[in-house]
Amino acid sequence: MNTYNIAALAGDGIGPEVMREAIKVLRATEKRFNFKLIITDAPVGWAGIDFAKKALPDKTLAICKASDSILFGSVGLPDRDPTIPKEERPERAALLRLRKEFGLFANLRPVKLPKVLAHACPLAKERQGDGIDILVVRELTGGMYFGQPKKTEDLGGGNQRAIDTMVYTTPEIERIAHVAFKAAQLRRKKLTSIDKANVLENGILWREVVTRVGKQYPDVALDHMFVDNGAMQLMLKPTQFDVLLCENMFGDILSDEAAALGGSLGMLPSASLGATNGNQTFGFYEPAGGTAPDIAGKDLANPIAQILSAALMLRHSFGLNEAAAAIESAVEHAIESGHRTGDIYSASEPNARRVGTRAMGDAIAAVM
Ligand code: NAD
Repeated sequence: MNTYNIAALAGDGIGPEVMREAIKVLRATEKRFNFKLIITDAPVGWAGIDFAKKALPDKTLAICKASDSILFGSVGLPDRDPTIPKEERPERAALLRLRKEFGLFANLRPVKLPKVLAHACPLAKERQGDGIDILVVRELTGGMYFGQPKKTEDLGGGNQRAIDTMVYTTPEIERIAHVAFKAAQLRRKKLTSIDKANVLENGILWREVVTRVGKQYPDVALDHMFVDNGAMQLMLKPTQFDVLLCENMFGDILSDEAAALGGSLGMLPSASLGATNGNQTFGFYEPAGGTAPDIAGKDLANPIAQILSAALMLRHSFGLNEAAAAIESAVEHAIESGHRTGDIYSASEPNARRVGTRAMGDAIAAVM
């Protein structure tokens, strides 16, 4: 039987509540699909500061390094101790450190709006077709956010010049393109690559390299779109997209735009992938939302984002595609049978039943 080591870093706010439900669903899944997970909990965020005066305690980092993947909740509590310097606060000291430590270069954000949740989407129903189902693949370690030089110069006379540099190399584009094409092969086999090839040198290289990599995936239909048009098309006709491949900054913007279509932050998982070793890929899996302090500890949080993050881990880190798909269809089943946490509840739905975090997790685990 295949065995995988998982570091479970629940973090702050709703983190522990939604993590508990994700682990419940994973336990039900391993029984059905005959694999074994060794899950080790470790404190992070304010929980880490309380435990070892550090948002990412050394012990937690050691557990992560000894694991095959990290399942992460969220960190940060805006009302806790404002005197702590920003580089020691959880969002930087834990999240950014982990991303850097594990070389997470690919960010995957699926957005799925089931037809029955049409009321939760800001777009008119006729634009939603049979439901929205998009995967944004964003390059996470290159481009404008990291390129050098990056500085602000004094020009004298009270004027300054700020410089950010957009840099991509062929291997950086190739590796993210492979991630996107492979993801498309597991979906509807359509990939739209986003660039600004009409203005940017980076855009020209991006388009050339993605086109070349695409020749290795003849079963995936590839098209290219300028980022400004892509932003507009997401609002006009989101159903035309399957996988969207973007460089870092365009992906940052478009993945949040696409997230708005998903109805609630509580429904949106995400995966950040690092290096592949044999047939396993190190990954960091977390909900798209934060710690939701307004609803923490009240059994109100939607655990679906965390549960779907666990499904992404099974698929992208361990190749357990059937088990991942089974979790996703158990989530759909729970929604179709009327289970609604507060964030996706509407009194206008005749069959909807308002449930808490625990009851939503129970309903999904029961289907598994
Ligand atoms: P947030 O995502 O925590 O909350 C925004 C809104 O969405 C709130 O109304 C919240 O109740 C709701 N929401 C979020 N997740 C939900 C869920 N699972 N179910 C139901 N409703 C949900 O964003 P915020 O309030 O801006 O940030 C709170 C804290 O979280 C901050 O300290 C922020 O830095 C941190 N944060 C952390 C991460 C992370 O760990 N990756 C990401 C975003 C924000």
